Amino acid sequence: MKQSTPSACGGRCGFSLIELVVIVAIIMILAMMLMPNFRSARHSVDRVNCATRQRECINGLLLYAGDNQQFLPPVGHHRNWRGLGYEEWWMYRRWVGAYVNILTTNQFEIAQCPSVRRSNIMLAGIGYNHQQLGIWLGPATQERVVGNQPQLFNIRAPADTVVFADSAWITNPSATNPAAWYSLGNADHLFRTPDNPQYASSPQRAYNRHQDRLVAAFADGHVSVLSVTNLGFQYPLNHPLAKWDL
Ligand SMILES: [Zn+2]
Repeated sequence: MKQSTPSACGGRCGFSLIELVVIVAIIMILAMMLMPNFRSARHSVDRVNCATRQRECINGLLLYAGDNQQFLPPVGHHRNWRGLGYEEWWMYRRWVGAYVNILTTNQFEIAQCPSVRRSNIMLAGIGYNHQQLGIWLGPATQERVVGNQPQLFNIRAPADTVVFADSAWITNPSATNPAAWYSLGNADHLFRTPDNPQYASSPQRAYNRHQDRLVAAFADGHVSVLSVTNLGFQYPLNHPLAKWDL
């Protein structure tokens, strides 16, 4: 005759519905408590990686200038330059890209802010100062890769002149305080300076992408985390607090 053996848990194995609900609730509360920490940690990692990348970019730019009579690389050149049929930008291997020690699968990754999850030339996120430093090689200058650009020694205060910074297409460009500039997520590979004729109509601006701060690289080679307000876009050309001009 088969005898039933008493179970180790006294005939009441597993969890009741109420116990399960309590356990799930505790897990959810713990997750909600930890989530901000995870987000904050991720933001910190992205900011550090952005600074590392911008350090590579500014080092690359300075090396380029050293090899080219102090001329700064252009921000880009006109479509159909030499009949190539496409545009090249500052990060292209001809210019900064040739000097950047980053293993990339394409040229655009050089200008990629880690907080920008898309890899695309117009959505890269690290922007070059246009047009104080990086000029545009249009049809009139397309055969002059070196010759029309500013030179390093034209920069009066290299430690106070921004070269690269987190950049985006701003949706409220008329806001007078740059810290209020807002973006719907479109990143960019250049930022326009207030003396640029398209400053208002094409609002590609330096942008506080990293929790009210941005990463910026300066002409003396140092990289800082600061607010876009501190770069002085609210001030005119040659103002002592404008860090975007020569
Ligand atoms: Zn960034």
